[in-house]
Amino acid sequence: MRQSLVVGNWKMNGTRSSSELLAKSIITGLGSSSANIAVCVPYVYLFAINELIKNTPLALGAQNVADKLSGAYTGEISAVMLGEFNCKYALVGHSERRSYYGDTNESVAARFCQAQGEAIIPILCIGETLEQREQDKTFAVIDAQLSAVISLAGIEAFSKAVVAYEPVWAIGTGKTATDDEAQEVHHYIRQYVAAKDQAIADRIQILYGGSVKPNNAGGLFAMPDIDGGLIGGASLDAESFLKIYHSI
Ligand code: PEP
Repeated sequence: MRQSLVVGNWKMNGTRSSSELLAKSIITGLGSSSANIAVCVPYVYLFAINELIKNTPLALGAQNVADKLSGAYTGEISAVMLGEFNCKYALVGHSERRSYYGDTNESVAARFCQAQGEAIIPILCIGETLEQREQDKTFAVIDAQLSAVISLAGIEAFSKAVVAYEPVWAIGTGKTATDDEAQEVHHYIRQYVAAKDQAIADRIQILYGGSVKPNNAGGLFAMPDIDGGLIGGASLDAESFLKIYHSI
């Protein structure tokens, strides 16, 4: 039985005080759910949020991690640095990183390995653009995104990773994949992993991301291959984020 997981991606939003307030409100509303929950916060707030969430079920994540260990890479943040703030997770390959900052399948694979080198669980974000979907290239895109990581890290590495399927056309647009559309791709991803290692495929958490809101989360999370969500916009409001979390 896979554990469910809901992860908030705060992106480049908030101030230190609004972020602290948001984290406190989330913690207050957690209740006794056994599902896992985390927030991926801007780097500069990792320290403050880490202080607040100590000894609570809310886990901490970063929104990216450098593809190198250390050295002359101005502006980058290494996995060792993230480890110092108790980051349990790091997003890698978010579509905004791929489209605005030039992350490639290969550099995403390197980030994935750097995170695991510090026992940080990479949340590997994959998904197709609208154009790719319309050209029937969804599965080819997923194959390329997964295979780049498998080539560098090996399939065993997926026993300590999370995959987030995030159709690019659904991120921040208000357009969500239908439950069946999302399930189809999640099933495909699990089968892709199963072809290499069935036990890992059975265990790996595959999250859905893309305009998940309190009113559509329940349907998505009820699908057999959807193990939770990666939530952007709705994670900035404690009430919405908690409603999504509790609908798992
Ligand atoms: C995301 O950024 O990962 C995301 C899913 O955003 P949103 O929920 O706002 O579509």
